[in-house]
Amino acid sequence: MQTEFILRAAEAVNTAILAHESEIESLDREIGDGDHFINIRRGASVILGMREELSGLPPDAVLQRMGMKLLSTIGGASGPLFASFFMAMAKTVKEQGSDGPGKIAAAFAAGVESIKQRGKADVGEKTMLDVLIPVAQVLMQMSAEGAERQVIFAEIKKTAEQGMLSTRNMVATKGRAAFLGERAIGHIDAGAKSTQVMITAVCDLAAETPA
Ligand code: ADP
Ligand code: MG
Repeated sequence: MQTEFILRAAEAVNTAILAHESEIESLDREIGDGDHFINIRRGASVILGMREELSGLPPDAVLQRMGMKLLSTIGGASGPLFASFFMAMAKTVKEQGSDGPGKIAAAFAAGVESIKQRGKADVGEKTMLDVLIPVAQVLMQMSAEGAERQVIFAEIKKTAEQGMLSTRNMVATKGRAAFLGERAIGHIDAGAKSTQVMITAVCDLAAETPA
């Protein structure tokens, strides 16, 4: 995973988020406070604006600067969570490198672990972690097995979609939706949806990028 790929991924994520505006917006309006789309759009757009500053830097420095920027620009619960994801990824990439599926899987897993710790949440609490945790597990397992890249991307997309859909019938125990109790049942979590959209966009980009 090189800097050029990370910058192209940021563009792909921005495009994908904009394409899902009304869906993400209305999900957070139903069981949150309606600002999730605005929060992630702001994050994606400030990162795009950093393109020149980031383009000559090594991948770990790029991820670290992205995380720090997100921390200072996205509000809400999701800002510090996404920020910690990038900063933990940066740390792992700095220590272990970022070339090949195994290294990328380890960095992604470290990012997800950092969200778990910061948000004090786990699978089954109707949050973005219902997408991120299963995706991290699949990525780790498939890269360890030496699965073919295209197979890994397809499996990640499927896992992300299942994770997103699984939040529909959950009661939330973290975040604003937790105040709604049973009334949150029947609604997909906005953060799970946006995370699935972002992961899908990065997989599609990776699938058309030579290894
Ligand atoms: P806020 O909840 O402050 O309005 P956002 O709307 O930007 O912030 O983000 C809400 C999303 O953040 C939720 O849909 C959920 O996926 C995620 N989230 C909230 N709390 C947590 C937590 N403790 N751990 C993991 N994810 C969380
Ligand atoms: Mg919100």
